[in-house]
Amino acid sequence: MDDCVFCAILAGRVPGSVVYEDDDAVALMDLYPVHPGHVLIVPRQHVTDLASCPGDLAGRLFALSGKVAPAIVEATDAAGFNVWTANGKAAGQEVFHLHLHVLPRYEDDTFGLRFPKGYPQEATRAELDAMAGQIRSRL
Ligand SMILES: [Zn+2]
Repeated sequence: MDDCVFCAILAGRVPGSVVYEDDDAVALMDLYPVHPGHVLIVPRQHVTDLASCPGDLAGRLFALSGKVAPAIVEATDAAGFNVWTANGKAAGQEVFHLHLHVLPRYEDDTFGLRFPKGYPQEATRAELDAMAGQIRSRL
């Protein structure tokens, strides 16, 4: 993908600060870190998002995040970490080449997802069963 910044980094056309690399993926520093130590796990293969990623590769990416995260926590003296990926613009995806964020976290660091107004409100069993059926029928 000529216009993909992650493909450009992987090809060496754009600089990246590499933490780890293997045949499947590269772990590199996010250029716009939420906190110092914010790392991205990027597959070498250009896949748009998690939904279009072969399952075996997705598993290896997730395993790599679990390998890198403790090193980030140790290097940054963080209190914990998040691993997440955005799928689609509405979810906050900005680069359409799958990547996992590995983000060190601190108590009261003010970063986080915002719950919608009125949350939490417990769903009924009937609502949950109906939605489970809708999803199950598409798997
Ligand atoms: Zn790409």
